[in-house]
Amino acid sequence: MANPTSWLYVDLNTISENIKTIKNYIGATRLLVVVKANAYGHGMYPVAACAVESGADYLGVSSLEEGIFLRKSGIKEPVLVFNTILPEQAEDALNYDLTVTVCSFDTVQALNDAAAKMNKKAFVHVKIDTGLGRFGVLPEHAVEMVHIITANFKNIYIEGIYTHFSLATNESITRKQFNIFLSIIKELEHQGYKIPLKHVCNSTAMLNYAEMHLDMVRVGNLVYGLCPSKNLKISNPSKIYSKIIFLKTLPKGHYVGYGNRFKTRRHTTVAIVPFGYYDGLELFISQPNGIWDSLKNLIKQILASFGVITANRTVKVNGIQCNILGKISMQSCIVDVTDIKDKVFIGDVVELSARRINLSHSIARVYHKADNIFLVDKAVSDEDEVNLSHGTGQRSETSIV
Ligand SMILES: *Cc1c(COP(=O)(O)O)cnc(C)c1O
Repeated sequence: MANPTSWLYVDLNTISENIKTIKNYIGATRLLVVVKANAYGHGMYPVAACAVESGADYLGVSSLEEGIFLRKSGIKEPVLVFNTILPEQAEDALNYDLTVTVCSFDTVQALNDAAAKMNKKAFVHVKIDTGLGRFGVLPEHAVEMVHIITANFKNIYIEGIYTHFSLATNESITRKQFNIFLSIIKELEHQGYKIPLKHVCNSTAMLNYAEMHLDMVRVGNLVYGLCPSKNLKISNPSKIYSKIIFLKTLPKGHYVGYGNRFKTRRHTTVAIVPFGYYDGLELFISQPNGIWDSLKNLIKQILASFGVITANRTVKVNGIQCNILGKISMQSCIVDVTDIKDKVFIGDVVELSARRINLSHSIARVYHKADNIFLVDKAVSDEDEVNLSHGTGQRSETSIV
């Protein structure tokens, strides 16, 4: 696929600069770069390799499968698996030298047995639930758990202890969670336990509360330019592109899209872009959030059926914002290019905005590093070179009436 019609362009230089900016900010604190969920859509292996090259001390993933994928791709650095694993996955965790999050004795027992068989130590991080209600032991059991693991499971090494905030933008909630964590650490230290990696911060907490950095921070969103940062110079490393594959002019009064949600009010030139909700665009023009939002959506829908464009759903065609009309299809959307129709051609590149994390695996990831543009997502293509020129050079205007 040397000529993809849709692709995510990822500038690895920018990711690297973001990581270096974060490292500079945290000083001696270690940095775990989160590459779960296909590196928030950017492609797990290229981002992980870039993170390691840029000085990440640790990588973080959600599932054991993701950790194994990193190992099979050749990543040698420490990898922490955030989700707890099933006892039957203990052997895999050890075979691939993955650090496991533990919060139950079933898993600890399975890891210990597997480690004893292999004559090695299982590295674990104990997780404490200080308020999220997800993984982790409740605070009142945390000290006891560390005690029991240390006393009874000789092939387990507690390398870390951590918690995860439920709403890092809220200072009082976050401080409450942090204080619970600190009191456990104090009690453990009082009892003589020394756990090298104590960590609590995600991106937002790292930015807002310097005193919570402790031994390591776990940063995802910020690496990808996905969270606001007043004090750090962080850039967006990626853009989503597609190409116009069909153009035509509809008469006034013609419906556009499934469900007849939109009706043209004038001669309307539409450009069809092969990118829909399967690829990662939101199905609805906007998701309602509460009753007022639903009401506003209803009004917008009624207006749309009279051809009034109220939704601010746009794509950039040759740098100019154009509206998406009607409902987004599974693998295409319909864009109004009436006002720029003389300057629009089949094959023209369109820039879309969508949540990168929701981007389909089938969309090519194209990486820019130094001066090379190359495609390394082997799941999509086995070619290294990619041609991103505007179309084939044989532009067709015949379909513009
Ligand atoms: C996803 C995740 C992070 C990263 O959070 P960001 O807000 O993206 O920085 C950190 N820790 C855990 C446990 C996570 O699951």
